[in-house]
Amino acid sequence: MTARLILIPLLILMTAANAASALAQDKGTLNPTPLPPLANPNDPKIGAKELFGRKVLPAAMPTRVFGFYAHGCIAGAEGLPINGDNWQVMRLSRNRYWGHPDLVALIKRLAAKARKDAGWPGILVGDMSQPRGGPMFTGHASHQVGLDADIWLTPMPNRQLSRNEREEMSAVMTVRNDRLDVDTKVFTPGHLAVIRDAAQEPSVQRIFVNAAIKKALCREAKGDRHWLHKVRPMYGHDYHFHIRIKCPPGAGECESQPDPNEGEGCSTSDLAYWFSDAVLHPKPPKVPRPPKPPMTMASLPPACKAVLNAPDAKQ
Ligand SMILES: [Zn+2]
Repeated sequence: MTARLILIPLLILMTAANAASALAQDKGTLNPTPLPPLANPNDPKIGAKELFGRKVLPAAMPTRVFGFYAHGCIAGAEGLPINGDNWQVMRLSRNRYWGHPDLVALIKRLAAKARKDAGWPGILVGDMSQPRGGPMFTGHASHQVGLDADIWLTPMPNRQLSRNEREEMSAVMTVRNDRLDVDTKVFTPGHLAVIRDAAQEPSVQRIFVNAAIKKALCREAKGDRHWLHKVRPMYGHDYHFHIRIKCPPGAGECESQPDPNEGEGCSTSDLAYWFSDAVLHPKPPKVPRPPKPPMTMASLPPACKAVLNAPDAKQ
């Protein structure tokens, strides 16, 4: 399967509250069209997503992370093979299956554990980062430095998915219609096992899930519950969960985030905000908010310019 696939930017309008869930469901395409070249790629006002979104392969540089999850880039990223013993990559047309080698290794390990602990045939992997990281045309504010990965809450089927299925298939909705709890017909002990396996990895710093999933994990986790503190409620995330690993050891230019609080985060008051009416049933703003100006190269570490301009890594 070729990596030379380029995302077609689609204008997607959505509210912050459902952004992540809608994006997990956005379909890809079997016939991605290359983006046209930019007339003025050196214009300092140009969105960095326009530049990073046109890179099909990683920078031929030693692996280095520059900046923060939500403003940065990565040199020498590694591609996750699209088929593994216990995993398959989804939405290939987005070309977002790149990350730090530590993240790639973690996903492979987690996939094998999912088979052993949850009895799943494996995991379906959603968005990681672009080949050189950076901001994206659609979706995530983070996923910019090769240290974030989305894992579908749909167990991998026991067969190889077709290209078409990988673009078109929808992930499973695990949250109940009233958003107050998980759908117990869909959310199984296997989901808990896979999320726990990820959270127990020492390099994992945070996992984002929908609040209804956090509530279910709090209720159902038996034995060691220390891992629960890493699992944080977040908007969306009802079709997938999001794994964030720490800055790799020795990655001096990687801007770290403080560890989450040690508490389980399971009390009623911990979760109250997420089940408030304002979060469950957000009202559209009276005056539509003007779109945010895109992040430019000036918002990224200066080293990201070199990452952008480096030749393609050989694959
Ligand atoms: Zn994510």
